[in-house]
Amino acid sequence: MTFDVSYLDLGYLLSATVFIFGLKNLSHPRTGPWGNQLGAIGMLLAVLTTLGIMQFSGEGVVGWGLVGGGLALGTAIGLVIAYRVQMTKMPEMVALLNGLGGAASALVALSEVMGRSAHHDMPQGFSLWVTWIAIGLSLLVGWTTLTGSLVAMGKLAEGITIGGKWIAFPTWGPPWTNYVKALLSIASVVLIVVATLDPTNMTWIWALSIVSCLLGIIVVLPIGGADMPVVVSLLNSLSGIAAAFTGFILNNSVLIVAGSLVGASGLILTFIMCDAMNRKLFDVIFKSFGGGGKQKVTRTKVGSDPDEVAMLLDGAQRVIIVPGYGMAVSQAQHAVREFADLLREKYQTEVLYAIHPVAGRMPGHMNVLLAEAGVPYEAMIEMDEVNPMFAQCDLALVLGANDTCNPGARSGEGPLAGMPIIDCDLAPVVVVVKRSLSVGYAGVDNDLFYLDKTMMLFGDGKDMMSALNQAIKGA
Ligand code: NDP
Repeated sequence: MTFDVSYLDLGYLLSATVFIFGLKNLSHPRTGPWGNQLGAIGMLLAVLTTLGIMQFSGEGVVGWGLVGGGLALGTAIGLVIAYRVQMTKMPEMVALLNGLGGAASALVALSEVMGRSAHHDMPQGFSLWVTWIAIGLSLLVGWTTLTGSLVAMGKLAEGITIGGKWIAFPTWGPPWTNYVKALLSIASVVLIVVATLDPTNMTWIWALSIVSCLLGIIVVLPIGGADMPVVVSLLNSLSGIAAAFTGFILNNSVLIVAGSLVGASGLILTFIMCDAMNRKLFDVIFKSFGGGGKQKVTRTKVGSDPDEVAMLLDGAQRVIIVPGYGMAVSQAQHAVREFADLLREKYQTEVLYAIHPVAGRMPGHMNVLLAEAGVPYEAMIEMDEVNPMFAQCDLALVLGANDTCNPGARSGEGPLAGMPIIDCDLAPVVVVVKRSLSVGYAGVDNDLFYLDKTMMLFGDGKDMMSALNQAIKGA
């Protein structure tokens, strides 16, 4: 009796189902970790199914050693990176992983072309068109995602070190970059058509790869400052789309399903980010709001000390904490939680957390850090819901947030123009914890710091919060 390999396709079905449940669980912080594990289980199932199909279909797995070695090496590298990466470097790592996803798809497409050319195994007629267009699109989207993500990674770090020298990423704005984008886009479409008409000639494939790499760079380079969250989620979506195209090349259903899931969810996130920034996707890509240099800070403000702030907190009924990227840098989340506990125990203060959708450097950055410190999810309030509460609170404590609470965004000018902000300037008293008066990620000076009702606590976020906690204990 022979074994019918098509039964193994059920493994793909199971794997796709597990991916969908994983995605569903990722939509809530409480179930997120389980969603992540489900994603990993789904991927393992997909890999095992593929190996099973290859083994039992009579093809045999070409080089079990190669497959096992690849799995072991990939797992080892992934584990080391995941354990060693600092929390503050997570956004850059997410950008890198998006890029590697794109590169993996492009490499598979490339190996398919090279393999078919070497074995003179060209599909014929309509099948040739379908396969070669899928290969072309996979190369285009895959390489674009790789180079775009590498630039995004550098921009998130605000520069790179080359030969020990710090180089800030240039932000080349339109219009000339738009002409180059248009030219490269047209060239890539032409190259896909030419490669399909002349499938045995690798020159077109290499040319397409180079054009795609340049396109990724020139698309991401002009986008700066506050608009980066949109770009990062778009690149995440593109990495999925590239995988889906590769699924068509290999005729692999689970790759098509998984790629489409990543592509679709990334696109939904992109539009959520666009909404959060009050931007249109087209404008983010072609108008480069965030371009330009950083503003110089010319105004001054005298700093306050933790004892003064502790006195103001005596008897407070409601305090709203506005966390931002500085909380992530200083890893102040545990000190923040202690601050909230102290106020609750001492004065029965209600402590809430105002969460801006793009605070920090990745979607959900603040939620993840606060949840890690044991802050209850119910206390983390989304921007639209929390904004009307500021007028009724006793004090707003801004911890390392800058762009996301810059009242300048309400005007029609500059990189932050039109971005909805946390309305903490409507609180009767504002305390800002940061090291200096320096600008935020978008490079815009912040009027909030200079208001009469604003007290600046200059220093590292964690140190200042610990000092504030001591002052409250002693008050
Ligand atoms: P910002 O990046 O605007 O500002 C962070 C502030 O934290 C700085 O002004 C800095 O001031 C302060 N800071 C840095 N280190 C410390 C420290 N150790 N202790 C205390 N303070 C510190 O923060 P926001 O969260 O308000 O805004 C996020 C920005 O990042 C937005 O422009 C957003 O568009 C962008 N972005 C967001 C992404 C996302 O997905 N969430 C992705 C990419 C970009 P100082 O140096 O004076 O201490």
